[in-house]
Amino acid sequence: MRGFAMIGPNETGFIEKDDPKIGPRDALIKPLAVAPCTSDIHTVYEDAIGPRHNLILGHEASGVVMAVGEDVKDLKVGDKVIVPAITPDWSDVASQAGFGAHSGGCLSGWKFSNIKDGVFANRFHVNDADGNLAHMPEDLDPGVACMLSDMITTGFHADELAHVEYGDTVAVIGIGPVGLMALKGAVLHGASRIFAVGSRPKSVEVAKKYGATDIIDYHKGDIADQILALTDNKGVDKVLIAGGDTEHTFDQAVRMTKPGGKVGNVAYLNGNHMIEIKAAHWGVGMSNITIDGGLTPGGRLRMEKLASLIENGRLDPSLMITHKFHGFDHIQDALELMHQKPADVIKPVVYCDDID
Ligand code: NDP
Ligand code: ZN
Repeated sequence: MRGFAMIGPNETGFIEKDDPKIGPRDALIKPLAVAPCTSDIHTVYEDAIGPRHNLILGHEASGVVMAVGEDVKDLKVGDKVIVPAITPDWSDVASQAGFGAHSGGCLSGWKFSNIKDGVFANRFHVNDADGNLAHMPEDLDPGVACMLSDMITTGFHADELAHVEYGDTVAVIGIGPVGLMALKGAVLHGASRIFAVGSRPKSVEVAKKYGATDIIDYHKGDIADQILALTDNKGVDKVLIAGGDTEHTFDQAVRMTKPGGKVGNVAYLNGNHMIEIKAAHWGVGMSNITIDGGLTPGGRLRMEKLASLIENGRLDPSLMITHKFHGFDHIQDALELMHQKPADVIKPVVYCDDID
C-alpha cells in the first residue's frame, strides 16, 4: 500500500508499506474522500503525542469496503461507509463503561494515525468493522461524509460534555471546524445567546450562519472580560473549548462561567504545558463549576445518527468545506493548508477519485 506519512518530527512524505492484514472482525477499506485534521498538525509539528516514524497520517475518511473478515455480519465488499476517527474495541470493559474512546487505555480508541497507520492510504484497516463502520447514505457526498468522522462528532461532544440545555447562554472558544460544529450543536440543543470566539473572517461568516449571536475577537482584549462586559458581569451557563491555548484558556473559561455552570473541552492541549486556573476565578474552589474534557466517542451508531441529521436537513456541514481537491496526492497540499491556516481556510477535503 501507498500512504502519506509522518516520516519523523516535522517531516512528511509518501511511503510504501505492506498491505494491512485483516482479522476475522476487521475490514479493509479504500478511501473515497479524506480530510486532514488540526490534530495531524499537532502530531507532526508540535510533538503533541511524542515522535512517530513512518506512520501513515489521517483519521477522517469515507470509503468503500474491499474485504471483510469471516465474522463480519453487516458489511460486504462494495458497501460505501463512513469511517469514524475513533474506532473502539467494543468488547473492552472501557466500552462497556461508556468510554469506548479509552478502550485499551487512555485515548486508545483513537487508533488511526496514533497507534496504527491512518486513512491517508490507498488501503487501510478498520478494527471491529461491524461496530465501527457506518453505512453511508447513497446520496451523501463522500467529502461531506468525511466531516462526520471527526469534526461533527467532536464539536457535538463539547455540547455533551457541558450538558447544553434549552435556553442556555453559551460561549464557544474557537471557531475552526470543531468549534463551528460545537456551535451548531449548541443551537440543536436549544441554546439561546451564543458567543463565538475567533477572528478569521471566513470562520466568523460561517459562525453567524450556524447561529452565533455575538462574535468575540480574542485580539481585542481578554475574552472573559469581553463576555462578562456583555452579560452584566454574570457570564454564561456553558463554555465549549475548541481552540485557544493550554495555559490561559481554562482560566478564562472558568472566569466567564456562572456558578454551577459547565465547561466542556475538546481541544487537544500541549502535553508539556500546565493548565492554570486562578482559584478566585473558580470560587476559591467552591463555585460548582464543572470542567470535563473528552475525546470524541466513535463507532457506527453515532456516525449513522449524525448522518441522519444531514439527511434530514438539520445540519449542513458543507458550509465549512472551503477547499476541495481531486486526486489522492493532493493530501499533501491539504495538510499544508491546515498547517499554514491562511485566512480563507476552514476545512479542506481530498476526493480520492484516482484510487482503484
Ligand atoms: P482550528 O485551528 O481550525 O481552530 C482554532 C480556533 O481557535 C480558531 O477559531 C482560532 O481563531 C481560535 N483561537 C486561536 N487562538 C485563540 C486564543 N488565544 N483565544 C481564543 N481563541 C483562539 O482548530 P480545529 O477546529 O480544527 O480543532 C480545534 C481543536 O480540537 C484542536 O486542538 C484539535 O486538535 C482538537 N480536536 C480534538 C478532537 C477530540 O476528539 N477531542 C478531535 C479533533 C480535533 P482564528 O479565527 O483567529 O483562527
Ligand atoms: Zn482529528
